[in-house]
Amino acid sequence: MISPKFRSMLKGESVIRKMNSQGNAIAEKIGAENVFDFSIGNPSVPAPENLNAVFEELLTGMDSVLLHGYSESHGILEVRKQIAASLQKRFGIPFSYRDIFMTSGACAAMAHAVRAVASPGEEIITFAPYFPEYKPYIEGAGVTLKIIPADTESFQINFDLLEQEISEKTAAVLINTPNNPSGVVYSTETVKRLAALLTQKSEELGHTIYLISDEPYREIVFAGVDNPFVSDYYADTIICYSFSKSLSLPGERIGYVAVNPACSMAELIIDMCAQISRCIGHNCPSSLIQYVAGRMCGETSDLTVYETNARMLYKELTAMGYTCQEPGGTFYMFPKALEEDAMAFCQKALEYNLVLVPGDSFGCPGYFRISYCVQTEKAERSVEAFKKLAKAYGL
Ligand code: PLP
Repeated sequence: MISPKFRSMLKGESVIRKMNSQGNAIAEKIGAENVFDFSIGNPSVPAPENLNAVFEELLTGMDSVLLHGYSESHGILEVRKQIAASLQKRFGIPFSYRDIFMTSGACAAMAHAVRAVASPGEEIITFAPYFPEYKPYIEGAGVTLKIIPADTESFQINFDLLEQEISEKTAAVLINTPNNPSGVVYSTETVKRLAALLTQKSEELGHTIYLISDEPYREIVFAGVDNPFVSDYYADTIICYSFSKSLSLPGERIGYVAVNPACSMAELIIDMCAQISRCIGHNCPSSLIQYVAGRMCGETSDLTVYETNARMLYKELTAMGYTCQEPGGTFYMFPKALEEDAMAFCQKALEYNLVLVPGDSFGCPGYFRISYCVQTEKAERSVEAFKKLAKAYGL
């Protein structure tokens, strides 16, 4: 018999994909240049200029057997050393290669982190609005995902609700800052308060509550925004990182797990990741992309377009009467829909060739996500469409 579990998942169509295909259908009729497709979070800027040269150098200069050979199960040692050194230099924490495990992007990093610290029947707590894939990442491991409703005033953390939710079943808390979909970056005050609460609760409960910090947007933070490095504040932090957005190469599938060296069971966790890989059929990312990531870590694409688009859209939309928390990073913003039903609102937006994503699937009904990873010229042209949409709601 085919698996009822995965069969039932076929019914849960991704709203992001659904909006995107509705946008594509409009594009077929009126041309893609006339559709303001803000549905998908695909980087819109090229990878750094020197990236291809690094590929070429490896392909032409490196011993073929070594380059294309199996990687060690934790990832290539040289690459893990490069990443640890880069983290150490940037953030001052003494990471070593022993704290790094190479994965195929942040999603694979999450699959390992979740299984390393939580067992079936236990719980991981996260905060709305959250990346919808957290559900399969966590529930796929037999672990329960608990969601704290959004603090829509600030999109920081509602600590009262978090405190109520933590129990002896809590294995970890999962945060994503800078956040998809709100674009908000947790402040130092938020991170300190979270660390203090987790320390207190870990002591009370007699077990470590790990903090899984999903950081694919770590480098996409706008000028003047407070952007604390989470591991600095809580030793029991496990970073899930991806180069997808910082180097604009989501199709290459490269990221890592980094465990704070002061984390309890740090070395065991990294070794356990290699065992988890065996169980979930994850083999190390391709050796070629690992070598590239090792040489490129610490560099980024030119990410300035995201800040330009964020500032322009925030200014224009709030002037029209939309309410929105100003994004501090990423390439997303999360305004309030102009009617209670954000799905109906996003359907209405399609009439103006605006492809938006309702907040329901991010656990935050009544809001919608704009992925402004598009050319600024296009973002600017979309302003007129947002105006018409606002007018349709009497603004
Ligand atoms: N976490 C968040 C918050 C994301 O937005 C994404 C991708 O968009 C991921 C994880 C997965 O990243 P990757 O595709 O690099 O595995």
